[in-house]
Amino acid sequence: MPNACQKEYGPGWAAAIRLPRIRIPCSYYTMHAAQTKTILCLAPIITVALAAWLEAGPERVSIDAVARSYGYPRPHVSDTSLTLRSNYSRLEFTHGNRRMLVNGIVVMMNDAFIYESDKASVARIDLETVINPVLRPQDVDAPRASRLVVIDPGHGGADGGMSGNGLQEKGLVLDISRRVSDRLIGSGLPVRLTRYGDHSISLGERVRRAKRWQAAIFVSIHINAADNRNAAGFETYVVPAKGFYSTSSKKLDLRSYPGNRFDAENTALAYQVHRSVLSNAPGADRGIKRARYVVIRDAPCPAILIECGFASNPTEARRLVRSDHRARIANGIAKGIVRYYEVAGKEQP
Ligand SMILES: [Zn+2]
Repeated sequence: MPNACQKEYGPGWAAAIRLPRIRIPCSYYTMHAAQTKTILCLAPIITVALAAWLEAGPERVSIDAVARSYGYPRPHVSDTSLTLRSNYSRLEFTHGNRRMLVNGIVVMMNDAFIYESDKASVARIDLETVINPVLRPQDVDAPRASRLVVIDPGHGGADGGMSGNGLQEKGLVLDISRRVSDRLIGSGLPVRLTRYGDHSISLGERVRRAKRWQAAIFVSIHINAADNRNAAGFETYVVPAKGFYSTSSKKLDLRSYPGNRFDAENTALAYQVHRSVLSNAPGADRGIKRARYVVIRDAPCPAILIECGFASNPTEARRLVRSDHRARIANGIAKGIVRYYEVAGKEQP
């Protein structure tokens, strides 16, 4: 029987996909017999990896290689989607789309899934910094020794943030942030808020504080609003990989930002928090999305920005005004953060 962790993450390994990047050193010709034996043992893996690399090209990875790596049986293909399913997890891709479902959670990739002429592939960057961190969070770097969680309540002071149905963002997000902090401290994690009162604070200063305090992770908390009153649900943002579009922008930005050092950790953190919020509070899953918001783009550590519902939606506004609903959201965020600390960089038993 698989234990709980194996059940969740599966037995897969991504080595086959990474190995082509290994450079054989000059000392290859002087290696000892034991090393030769190791290389020979790795030969089948290298062969599979090389075949996958040749099949899809250097920037893309074939779905067959992904399936082999994580122990999925043959994919199920329909007119519009391709599904990889095992006893442990389920990935569902939509043809020509960046939208992916991971165990039912919406995750936006950097690049589209492509299915053409019977060949299906994802971008290598999405395998390495989106799919693998979600399926195998033990492969990402563990939080730094400070363990400090910096919670960033959006807006404040003269900047009230979004408003709608009599609600204003700055007060709601401070309340949720305080609740998250209480729960994390109760779990033994050190926490600091970028603001504890109704103060104006620049985006740059929020980042500088996280840096000065040596934050291990940074979580910015916001409430959404939209002209469309039907828009509703939770969104969690991470920075797009270098050179890729934001989820809802056509503006190409080729620069690399400080937050890109943590592409894999960002997604691992977003996944744990986003799915925890969805299972603790009522609300639609609008997905893990990508945007170069300053606080996550320039963060000195893994960072996410979560939008906890729409003040402009009458149903969500009625919920947000209730403290028990805000407590549920905070509970979900805190549980997701604790889970991230439990799994990031730690080999599962
Ligand atoms: Zn906001």
